[in-house]
Amino acid sequence: MIEHAGGHVVFASPDEVPWDDEVDVVVVGSGAAGWSAAIAARRGGADVLVLEKLEQIGGTTAKAGGECGGPPAPGELPQRAGTWLWICDHPWLDGLGHSDPRDDALRYLARLARPTQYAPDSPTLGLPPDDYALLEAFYDHGKRVVAELDALGAPRLRPLADTWDYWADLPENQCPRGRALYVPLPDGREATGAEIIEAMSTAAGEMGVRVRTSTPVHGLIVDSESGAVVGVQAGRSAASASLVRARGGVVFATGGFTHNAALRGAHLPSPITGGLAARGSTGDVVLLASALGARFANMANAWLTPMLLDHGAEPVSGAFRLPGDSMMLLNRLGQRVVNEKVTYNEMTRAFLRWDEALGEYPNRVLVMLFDRSVSERCRAMPGDAPIDEGGGNPLARAGGADEHEIVAETLTGLAAAIDARLARHHDRFPGLRLADDWAEQAALSVGRFDDLARSGVDVDFHRGESRTQRARSGAPRSAEFGNPTMHPFDHSGPWRAVLLVAGTLDTKGGPVIDPDGRIVRPDGTAIAGMYGAGNCVASPSGEAYWGGGTTLGLAVTFGWLAGEHAAGRAGSGSASRTPVG
Ligand SMILES: Cc1cc2nc3c(=O)[nH]c(=O)nc-3n(C[C@H](O)[C@H](O)[C@H](O)COP(=O)(O)OP(=O)(O)OC[C@H]3O[C@@H](n4cnc5c(N)ncnc54)[C@H](O)[C@@H]3O)c2cc1C
Repeated sequence: MIEHAGGHVVFASPDEVPWDDEVDVVVVGSGAAGWSAAIAARRGGADVLVLEKLEQIGGTTAKAGGECGGPPAPGELPQRAGTWLWICDHPWLDGLGHSDPRDDALRYLARLARPTQYAPDSPTLGLPPDDYALLEAFYDHGKRVVAELDALGAPRLRPLADTWDYWADLPENQCPRGRALYVPLPDGREATGAEIIEAMSTAAGEMGVRVRTSTPVHGLIVDSESGAVVGVQAGRSAASASLVRARGGVVFATGGFTHNAALRGAHLPSPITGGLAARGSTGDVVLLASALGARFANMANAWLTPMLLDHGAEPVSGAFRLPGDSMMLLNRLGQRVVNEKVTYNEMTRAFLRWDEALGEYPNRVLVMLFDRSVSERCRAMPGDAPIDEGGGNPLARAGGADEHEIVAETLTGLAAAIDARLARHHDRFPGLRLADDWAEQAALSVGRFDDLARSGVDVDFHRGESRTQRARSGAPRSAEFGNPTMHPFDHSGPWRAVLLVAGTLDTKGGPVIDPDGRIVRPDGTAIAGMYGAGNCVASPSGEAYWGGGTTLGLAVTFGWLAGEHAAGRAGSGSASRTPVG
């Protein structure tokens, strides 16, 4: 007997369902979280099937390039273009001469995850116990997960000795460098996300994990007696849908909801109009988990990044690192509004500010203004990917396509050209134009910036005052004025600008999980058989972006825990399973 409850959940007795396929664990989504879940479940002896909505595997993970800036300054290391994973107390830290004790690390995690709740003297550091338990799980298991993935070559990982966390100077951070991991390739490059997916999917395939692409999961089968999720409906249409039984459980690893306009509009700050996520990130788990009464959290938070206005709502990459010293960000009123050397996630918060007096978002678009010197010194170099090919430097590569750069001999000319460019984007940003006196205000802002640069101290925004910011300085000329991240502008022109808007790498809100990756109800009880990991669930990171690689560090850790638990659940009902190593 099959009963329907809305379009997405079917209640039935598992023995009466005409299953098309039966496995122990179904993994929905083939990004990093999905492959980690699949590998862990297979390691636990489960028969695993990965179902991917799109024609190709990889999701946003396969789009990940990494940070990439201008040429290295004297004494600075080259900018990186790989994809990183951020993990506390990982097995290679010892070799770097660092230690990452649990109590210290948890303070750093909690301080940024829940800044308004953080209370260092409380046993849970001021966090609700459930939230704290997720941070504990990340600390306790992340290191084991990356060791296991490394041992399987899925992928092989190594530490980045020289990389600072995004909040290296917070007193809570007692291990400010070395937590980021990368994947070294034989040719000396750092692996991209696509190459990480290749390594994970190859290892999974060799272990016997099956994968089916072009197979969106759009329904759940729930045991009408126990309430446990026991399978999925998947396929492009109702006619071609197949029913796949999942004896141990279904792990959702379906990415965020960046490309679902309704969910974005309902939950994210309105200046965010798109993001870098792959097009499969449409929040499919939201409907399914809602139908089963899951608890939701973190829906208004996202992994944020500035992105080029001219590259549309789903660009290849983001402006992860704004290069140069004579460079600053101005809003539509011509005012400088942010420290331009903070990390991309933190900088994007400035785009979202509402002006309570003017009744508008004056930072919805920010003009990255730079001079001839920055233009000549700070472009992506041969070997660095430019922003239209996955890099993070918004300047075009020397000799490359530069339509997104606006150039004029004077600030007045630049204002007119920027305004004309904004008018072209009326559909996405209706009514967004520069203030009439933008050029005059910009000139005042430049004058103020020049004075601050000469004084060596940015009393307005504290640019260059942390190690993280100095590491992001991007080809400073010299420490002539005391602050290598700032230099007075060259007023002889030409003036150049690129236009930046707020975007996401992807969202990080969704159903809440427990430390085993189980999706929970508002009362904290688990929905048996339903798991989640990666960007599709309420991120254990809350508001935080701890360091480069945070999103993938969490995705592989909680994907693994979910896969492991689901395999265990299948194991308790099946005698024939053999662990696969
Ligand atoms: C340019 C760039 C650089 C980045 N660099 C880094 C970095 O260096 N380090 C880092 O940590 N993060 C980085 N990120 C972010 C990181 O890539 C993502 O946060 C991460 O890959 C998300 O992994 P995931 O497994 O949660 O989701 P995804 O990789 O997005 O996978 C989700 C998959 O689920 C599929 N899916 C969705 N719905 C369904 C359905 N109903 N049925 C079946 N399948 C479905 C999707 O098609 C997709 O393939 C970067 C991102 C970009 C774009």
